[in-house]
Amino acid sequence: MTGAALQTIIRNESLRLGFDLCRFTPVSEAPHADFFDAWIDAGRAGEMSYLERNREKRRFPARLAEPSAAPFQTMVVLGVDYHQYDLPPALRDDPSRGVIASYAWGDDYHELIRPLLYELDALIRAHTGRTSLGKGLVDTGPVLERDWAAAAGLGFTGKNCCTIRPGVGSWLLLAVLLIPEKLCDPASAVAAGPQPAFRKTMTCGRCTRCLVACPTDAFVGAYDLDPQRCISYWTIESRSIIPRALRARFGNRIFGCDICQGVCPYNRHLPERAPLLAGLHAHQARVAPPLLEGFDPSRPYWLDQAAFSAQFARSPIKRAKRAGMLRNVCVALGNWADASTVPALTQALRDPEPVVRVHAAWATGRVLAKWTHAPAAALLRTALDCEPDARVRDELQLALAGIP
Ligand code: SF4
Ligand code: SF4
Repeated sequence: MTGAALQTIIRNESLRLGFDLCRFTPVSEAPHADFFDAWIDAGRAGEMSYLERNREKRRFPARLAEPSAAPFQTMVVLGVDYHQYDLPPALRDDPSRGVIASYAWGDDYHELIRPLLYELDALIRAHTGRTSLGKGLVDTGPVLERDWAAAAGLGFTGKNCCTIRPGVGSWLLLAVLLIPEKLCDPASAVAAGPQPAFRKTMTCGRCTRCLVACPTDAFVGAYDLDPQRCISYWTIESRSIIPRALRARFGNRIFGCDICQGVCPYNRHLPERAPLLAGLHAHQARVAPPLLEGFDPSRPYWLDQAAFSAQFARSPIKRAKRAGMLRNVCVALGNWADASTVPALTQALRDPEPVVRVHAAWATGRVLAKWTHAPAAALLRTALDCEPDARVRDELQLALAGIP
């Protein structure tokens, strides 16, 4: 079988499995490995220490093959378009709701996509007779997916650091399958498949909308994002105390942030659609839930681990863990700063996790500052009387002093 025939089979099968995009590129040295290493060395990864491992493999993905297996020669780069609809402003801008990034409206894409990569590899092996396994990775291995998506002609990397495919936008989940079959000409920059017309316009041009729109000024410059100023990093990856200077800028975002994609002209006027992968279809309860809902005694999923696990069993939200999510919710409650939040903050101030109590103290201070609310002041003083953790005590004192 020719490489072109096998490519056609792989592409057709990928569509059948639920991928929207499938491209091929030779496995070589990652084009931006130097930039990424410098980014790591500058400490940008923060708590994402897993990014510091396997530098050589990230630079040379062929080294991801088992020593006894045939070396990988081709990377199949796959994209899943998860766009469904734009969040209505009535929900997006409602401070009493916690907005969740749209990739997390459905089930966890890692769990959905990983078995599909195994299935695709099995199909290739059935056609080639190969006995060793290919390597499928979906955001979990040392691969610079956006580099390879660009190399394969799947899209280009925008100034917001997302992969953008004109006509499709940037709401893309990327996955790769490394295989030993040689399906493309290593000499060509973009190897396989018909050359898409959009290659002529694969650029941001003079647009800077995403850089300007970021509420936390997380872009050091075009194509250069500092995660430690990014809402997505803090609300998903970090387990720590969110810097005070950033909290007010998070608004009502409790898991991830879509702002720098939402403003992108390439994402404008996209049709409403249901993703090919049915598991990604939005669960309404995971789009913008009322902030106070998870404090309700009937389903206290912010307060109780069993309720949290049941609520988010198949969701990417479980990555942030209960304490991380309750921390995020406290920040959103502080930004709402409505007097009706005090009963919920009372419960959060009793949470066993100090990281939660720190943010509950901050949020209660915001209510106090906005309304001169006597119950909020009493709550802070009571909490201070019995608080053992120095970081929480500091936060309680700042809240009582009216320091934002
Ligand atoms: Fe800024 Fe949000 Fe984009 Fe992060 S995800 S860079 S906070 S706009
Ligand atoms: Fe590029 Fe503009 Fe989109 Fe940012 S908003 S990624 S600059 S096109």
